[in-house]
Amino acid sequence: MSEAEARPSNFIRQIIDKDLADGKHNSVHTRFPPEPNGYLHIGHAKSICLNFGIAQDYQGQCNLRFDDTNPEKEDLEYVESIKQDVKWLGFEWSGEPHYSSDYFDKLYEYAVELINKGLAYVEELSPEQIREYRGSLTEPGKHSPYRDRSVEENLALFEKMRTGGFAEGTACLRAKIDMASSFIVLRDPVLYRVRFADHHQTGDKWCIYPMYDFTHCISDALEGITHSLCTLEFQDNRRLYDWVLDNISIDCHPRQYEFSRLNLEYTVMSKRKLNQLVTEKLVNGWDDPRMPTISGLRRRGFTPESMREFCKRIGVTKQDNMIEYGSLESCIRDDLNERAPRAMAVLDPVKIVIENYDADKVEMLNIHNHPNKPEMGDREVPFTREVWIERDDFREEANKKYKRLVLGKEVRLRGAYVIKAERIEKDEQGNITTIYCTYDADTLGANPADGRKVKGVIHWVSVAKALPAEIRLYERLFTVPNPGAAANFADTINPESLVKVQGFVEPSLAEAKPEFGYQFERIGYFCADNKDSKADALVFNRTVGLRDTWAKIDAA
Ligand code: ATP
Ligand code: MG
Repeated sequence: MSEAEARPSNFIRQIIDKDLADGKHNSVHTRFPPEPNGYLHIGHAKSICLNFGIAQDYQGQCNLRFDDTNPEKEDLEYVESIKQDVKWLGFEWSGEPHYSSDYFDKLYEYAVELINKGLAYVEELSPEQIREYRGSLTEPGKHSPYRDRSVEENLALFEKMRTGGFAEGTACLRAKIDMASSFIVLRDPVLYRVRFADHHQTGDKWCIYPMYDFTHCISDALEGITHSLCTLEFQDNRRLYDWVLDNISIDCHPRQYEFSRLNLEYTVMSKRKLNQLVTEKLVNGWDDPRMPTISGLRRRGFTPESMREFCKRIGVTKQDNMIEYGSLESCIRDDLNERAPRAMAVLDPVKIVIENYDADKVEMLNIHNHPNKPEMGDREVPFTREVWIERDDFREEANKKYKRLVLGKEVRLRGAYVIKAERIEKDEQGNITTIYCTYDADTLGANPADGRKVKGVIHWVSVAKALPAEIRLYERLFTVPNPGAAANFADTINPESLVKVQGFVEPSLAEAKPEFGYQFERIGYFCADNKDSKADALVFNRTVGLRDTWAKIDAA
C-alpha cells in the first residue's frame, strides 16, 4: 500500500469529498502559508503534511506562500530554510513560491475600493486609544471620532499614509464594520499600518503594510485556493476573512477551515520562544538537535518518513491536545529499527587484554549489518588482542541476572569469541584500568565445544583499530511537560539536555554519511553530525535510545 492510500481520513477530507461530490469544486487547491520569521518546526510539519498531502491524494495543487507582511521580523535566511525544509519533508509546491508581498499593489487597490464603498476609514487615534475604544468581551466598543470621515477625506489621508505623510502609530486604515459585534475581530479591525521598514522582497517601495486578516483572504482568493486550512486560533478571524471577500470585487471565495495545532510535551513551539532560545544562546542555533525545528530534528537523525508517519499518527481534529514526546520518538525508532545498519561503538570504555591472543594479529570478522535483513549484507570488523568494552558491562561480582562480563566468568563478544575475565588492574583511586582475559579460540560462530552455556553478549571495538569519536547524548530540552506554561520557560531548561562523551567507534563508521542513521548495538540510534563531524574528528548525535526510558519515569 502506498503512503497516500494509507493516509487516514479526517473531517477536512470529508468536507473535500463532499465538495467534490456536490460539484462545488472539481479540483482541490490548498496552500501552506508560513511567515518567514523563524525556522519551521514539527507543528508546521503537521500543517505541511495536511496541505501537501491533500494536494497529492486528490491530484490537486498546493502553493507555498510566504506570508510576509511584517518586514521587521522577517528575513531571507528564513525564506531559504523554509523552502529547504518543505522539500526535505518530501513535498513539492505548485509552480514558483508565492509571497503575500506579490499582491501589495492589488491589496492597496482593494483597500481603496473599501474606502470608496464607505467601508474603511483612516483612523488617527493612538494605538492605546484604539484599544480603549475597542471595549471587551463584556462591553461593546465605542465609535472613533474619525469614523465618519467622508470618502474623499479618507482617500486623501490613505494616500498621505502611503506617501510617508504620517509617522508610525499616528494613522492606520480601519474597516468600518460593527463596534458592538460579539466578535471582537469585527470591531473595526485595522487593515493597514504605517511602518518605515525595508522589506526583504519589496525593498523601500512601501511604508504602509497590510495586516494579516486583510492579506490572507485576498491572497487565497487571488491564488484560487479552494480550502484554506489553518489552526483553531483563527476561528473568529473567519468572520473577517469572509467579510473582506464579500465586500470587494473578487470572484473567488475560498472557505477557511480550522484544525487544532500540534502541542508536544517537553517542547515549546512558539516561534517567539524558539527565537529567544537561539538569540540568548540557550541552544546552538535553530538547527540544534534539541530544537523541535525540522532542521534540528533532521540534524539529530530523524528521517522525513518518520516525521510524516508521526503526522499521520497524530491525525487532524478540532480537539486541543498535548502529544506525548514518546510518540515522536517511537516513530523514528520504528523507522530506524527497520533500516539502520548495525555498528559497534563504546561510549564509556574500559580496556580488555586477551592474554592468549597474538599481539600482532588482526582478524577481519564478518558481521551482519542487520540481524534479520540478510540483503543488507555484512561488514568487516577488525578483532585484536586489546578491545574496548563498556565499563558498565563488567562487574567484579554479580548475581545471575547480570548477563555481562563478571570476574572469573565468560561472556561472548558480539560477532567474535567467548572470553573469560581472569584478573583486573586498578588505579590508585580504585578504578578498573584493565581487565585481563583469555579467549576460547573454538567459539567463533560456535558454542563452546564442551556444552558450557554462555548467555551474555556484549559489544566491543578494537583498541588498535577503532576511531575516537565525540558522542553527543541528547535528552529533552525541558524538564517539565508544558514549559510554555511556566512563568519563565527558560528556567525549565534541562541542564543535561546535551552531554558530550568521548568514545570509540568501529572503523567502518569513518564512512558514515551525515544524518544517516545507525544502530549502535545495545545503545541506541546515532548519526554523524551534519555540521561538526570531520574525517579526522568524528561527531555522532544520539537520535533516540533503543527503548523509551521515560515511559517508566513518567508512570512512577
Ligand atoms: P507563531 O504563532 O509561533 O508565530 P504561526 O502559527 O504564526 O506561529 P506561521 O508561520 O504563521 O506560524 O504558520 C504557518 C502555518 O503553519 C499556519 O497555517 C499555521 O496555522 C500552521 N502551524 C503553525 N504552528 C502549528 C502547530 N503547532 N500545529 C499545526 N499547525 C501549525
Ligand atoms: Mg502566523
